[in-house]
Amino acid sequence: MANVSLSALEKSYDDTQVLTGIDLEIVDGEYLVLVGPSGCGKSTLLRCIAGLETITGGTLEIGGQRMNDVAPQDRNIAMVFQSYALYPHMSVRRNLGFPLEIRKQSQEEIGEAVAKVAKLLELDALLDRFPGQLSGGQRQRVAMGRAMVRDPAVFLFDEPLSNLDAALRGHMRAELKRLHRRLGSTFIHVTHDQVEALTLADRIMVLNEGVVQQVGTPRDLFDRPANTFVAGFIGSPAMNLLEQEDHTLGVRPTDIRLGEGEKRAKVDLVESLGAEALVHLDFNGSALLAQVPEPVSLEAGAEIALGFGTTHRFDKVSGQRL
Ligand code: ADP
Repeated sequence: MANVSLSALEKSYDDTQVLTGIDLEIVDGEYLVLVGPSGCGKSTLLRCIAGLETITGGTLEIGGQRMNDVAPQDRNIAMVFQSYALYPHMSVRRNLGFPLEIRKQSQEEIGEAVAKVAKLLELDALLDRFPGQLSGGQRQRVAMGRAMVRDPAVFLFDEPLSNLDAALRGHMRAELKRLHRRLGSTFIHVTHDQVEALTLADRIMVLNEGVVQQVGTPRDLFDRPANTFVAGFIGSPAMNLLEQEDHTLGVRPTDIRLGEGEKRAKVDLVESLGAEALVHLDFNGSALLAQVPEPVSLEAGAEIALGFGTTHRFDKVSGQRL
């Protein structure tokens, strides 16, 4: 079993606390995405799980075994980095087999393991090429293959798609999801991209300034954000947050109906996205963004009626959901 358990996990560098009181149970075979803004501590947490950083408080267990002081190579995990870190002077075949070569496995075992991974990732035809002769997506697949060759129980991905262009990122996202289904291993994936988180995860953990904000399914986080931070971070365009007398009111742009309802606003700007339009409104002095289906025929400066569908209420001071 490769469940990963973090309890009261802390990480600090000298007097800088980077991670505070992280509690999380990742079940065997789960796809968990760790998301948050740049600098919130995502990579540090992943590196703590990998054993590349020491934990300064709390415990980490993998498969029920305490891992705090276990060397990275003995943790039965593999990490795939954003930079791929392939050896440029080695063929794809040798790059794939290298983790087994260092472990002094036989040529026969290495050949078998490489063939299996190459088939799974459709790298068969590329085995004799060098990394410089591959596209970005192919390099990414080799990096994944190199992680898979040892058959680890847990895969750690650190921003694995952020070096790819938008089209390839979409393609590799689907590949990752299929790969997870085929392998049935535990995946822990770090990204700053909430779309990547929503599309890939069984569950998402949102981190801000080293503190867990919410853990839940993509639906949970989207439908019932625990606080204003999650409300603003998950969903694009972001949820509108309006300061009211005694609370903060949240309305997703897609939950605003135009042309009907009791409320009034003034149109500031209309941006067409093709099938939909983003309508920027002035709502009693506050900016409000609506996302509505095209065709939209609204002039800047026009006064219009509007109504809210689903809304969310948050405490004005703590930001917690009410
Ligand atoms: P993220 O992956 O979310 O962008 P990181 O985990 O890389 O964030 O960094 C979290 C915080 O820890 C940042 O404020 C960063 O400056 C700090 N940090 C990371 N590594 C070190 C280090 N070796 N020494 C001191 N501070 C560090």
